[in-house]
Amino acid sequence: MGMLQPNPWVLSLAPYVAGRAKADGVEKVVKLSANESAVGASPKAAEAMVASAVSMHLYPDPDAFDLRRAIAEVHGLAADRIICGAGSDEILHMVAQAFVREGDEIIHSRYGFMMYPIIAQSLGARPVAVPNKNWAADVDGILAAVTDKTRIVYLDNPNNPTGAYLPKAEVERLIAGLPKSCVLVYDAAYAECVDADDYTDGTDLAMAHDNVLMSRTFSKLYGLASLRIGWGYGSPALLDPMNRIRMPFNANLPAQNAAIAAVRDRDFAEKATRFTVQWRQWLSARISALGLEVVPSQTNFVLIRFPQSGDHQAEAANAWLTEHGYLLRWLPGQGLADCLRLTVGTEQENQVVVALLEAFMNR
Ligand code: PMP
Repeated sequence: MGMLQPNPWVLSLAPYVAGRAKADGVEKVVKLSANESAVGASPKAAEAMVASAVSMHLYPDPDAFDLRRAIAEVHGLAADRIICGAGSDEILHMVAQAFVREGDEIIHSRYGFMMYPIIAQSLGARPVAVPNKNWAADVDGILAAVTDKTRIVYLDNPNNPTGAYLPKAEVERLIAGLPKSCVLVYDAAYAECVDADDYTDGTDLAMAHDNVLMSRTFSKLYGLASLRIGWGYGSPALLDPMNRIRMPFNANLPAQNAAIAAVRDRDFAEKATRFTVQWRQWLSARISALGLEVVPSQTNFVLIRFPQSGDHQAEAANAWLTEHGYLLRWLPGQGLADCLRLTVGTEQENQVVVALLEAFMNR
């Protein structure tokens, strides 16, 4: 009887660090560190969630049929090409479990969503980080990194944590250059926040190409982060293996019901999009006017870059804001030690955070 022997590649990975919700010594915090919705959820979604209580003792529909049908109706898609997950995190993970083996390679952008290298390492695969170009994904860099071991390319579009996006034509160039044996996971977690005309939410790409899986979430613009519900759209060739490893009842009942109401409440979703676009523009303009670089954003957050003066300004600003109860995301682990990521807050929170940044810059 030997010692416990954890999987060695699992022990080699650094776990995901989520946006902080608390700060030592600060009683009440405003959390602008996790890209949650400042608008909250549709009241109809809240109602549907509460109404689910009477069925709490029953397992939910294992196939999330009604939710898939509601999403299909609203987006003009085929319900049998939709798969639901406990957050889009689960969709991103399931596709890798279904297609990636030990020793394979997974490509992602250096400044991309932090879960991608974690997913790769959890399966004994090698994460290959490609440097970004103008804060977005570099199509030529990604194509140059492809080998015969590449199974998945993760592309978050728009990109977290930079907020930048790739136009549809660039994504099409990427797809055209990828081997058909390689899955492009088009992570459109922030699709509902985009106002650029040359962007695609990826449903058309997933419809046209058997090796493109689009993933979406109800956590961001729909404001259902705590319920953990997301969805993917792809060909039977992608969905069949994913459905074989999908846990039964992976999408819980309150989440399924709230998401059905949320996706049908188009007025609320449009209002949330307008709010997000308006305030990210306002934050970008006001923070740029303080002499800080703000990456043009198509999301519900902005990436702020402090001058590289070598005096750890971003870290100091992070500490200053935390002392005043405002939690942003400092990203030294991702090689962005000179940057802070700020989620769009309520009108009042946005005003206060800009005033705090101004006070910090004028100290
Ligand atoms: N993709 C991206 C790019 C994200 O930023 C996030 C959330 N931080 C997710 C996926 C996962 O979101 P969820 O699991 O809440 O759907």
